[in-house]
Amino acid sequence: MTAAAVNRSSQLIAQTEKYGAHNYAPLQVVLERGEGPFVWDVEGRRYFDMLSAYSAVNQGHSHPRILAALVEQAGRLALTSRAFFNDKLGAMLQKICELTGFARVLPMNTGAEAVETAIKCMRRWGYRKKGIPSGKAEIIVGSENFHGRTTTIVGFSTDPDAYEDYGPATPGFKIVPYGDAEALAGAITPNTCGVLLEPIQGEAGVKMPPDDYLPRVRQVCTDQNVLLCLDEIQTGLGRTGKLFAWEHSGARPDVIILGKALSGGFYPISGIATSAQIMDVFTPGSHGSTYGGNPLASAVAVAALEVLVDEKLAENAAQLGEHALARLRAELTSENICDIRGRGLLLAVEYSTGIAKQACKKLQSLGVLAKDTHKTTIRFAPPLVISREQLDQALDLIIGVLNSF
Ligand SMILES: *Cc1c(COP(=O)(O)O)cnc(C)c1O
Repeated sequence: MTAAAVNRSSQLIAQTEKYGAHNYAPLQVVLERGEGPFVWDVEGRRYFDMLSAYSAVNQGHSHPRILAALVEQAGRLALTSRAFFNDKLGAMLQKICELTGFARVLPMNTGAEAVETAIKCMRRWGYRKKGIPSGKAEIIVGSENFHGRTTTIVGFSTDPDAYEDYGPATPGFKIVPYGDAEALAGAITPNTCGVLLEPIQGEAGVKMPPDDYLPRVRQVCTDQNVLLCLDEIQTGLGRTGKLFAWEHSGARPDVIILGKALSGGFYPISGIATSAQIMDVFTPGSHGSTYGGNPLASAVAVAALEVLVDEKLAENAAQLGEHALARLRAELTSENICDIRGRGLLLAVEYSTGIAKQACKKLQSLGVLAKDTHKTTIRFAPPLVISREQLDQALDLIIGVLNSF
């Protein structure tokens, strides 16, 4: 590394820290280029990306087919608002319906907006279809959830970093221990309109519920006339080895929330999908977004979804995930590691002490970018286009570093 290069990196970090809010604590690496499972820093150094922008880049960085769709559409028509129809939106809606098996889609932009949309949808359904008295609707959520950063959403977070001093919290949410179907069943009242859960809790550190959890929750929701809404923003679109994580348990939701990899990392695109009967609670003027469903987003999403299917990325995640989990379980021997878990290419290694951040710094120095969650856990979630050879190279580095802590 030359002195000039070191300067460039530290200058860019200093500029960012000087003019930006300090709401993140990034690793000290400045990235300028990406391709497939790799990113390069401003010194020209290559890294394995083991975060994939929290699973937004399942299709790999700068996927040529999605890039071409983006560039082509950007030169034609980018934004119309929903005051008019556009010639690309219909194809995206149809594609999402075909892949999810739902009849209707409502497109938004960021994940948090799609979660807010699902909350509005379930509440309206509660009042208008279930007959819950006005202002009384309740939604049940899991402890250690992560559903985004809006004031309503952080109001039902159990992580003080996320909610502290952002109150007063929006009422109408009940938090129950994640993974405990009994507790969830016991929290349902006649005023419960919905249950909102992640099939696997990504931000909590790839927390996996017991195998019978989602099927039991599904049954309780059906019996009690409550909507089951699964937030698949991180687990969906191939990440866990199926197109959607709920398919592992067969517990099909009534409402599914999508985001992140819906764009392959090029552009914020999100949405919810559900039945016609449930989606019909939205009437003209009752919900919307200036950018939601714009032609640029639509063209990008169609290409991103075609890539997932055509390149069999869910199948790749299933095969490579099994291989990676087996290698980690066989080769990680450090006494300080207390759990190794995951599904597909959403994997985590947990230490019994708070050394995850140090381990991530060491990994960075060897060309692997990963992020710690909650001080003890490191998540490994490479782009799903990674090959077996590339994954093995990354695992060789990861196993060497993790065993040294
Ligand atoms: C990332 C994420 C969100 C929020 O998405 P944004 O695009 O950051 O608003 C919501 N739910 C889950 C499960 C996520 O992983």
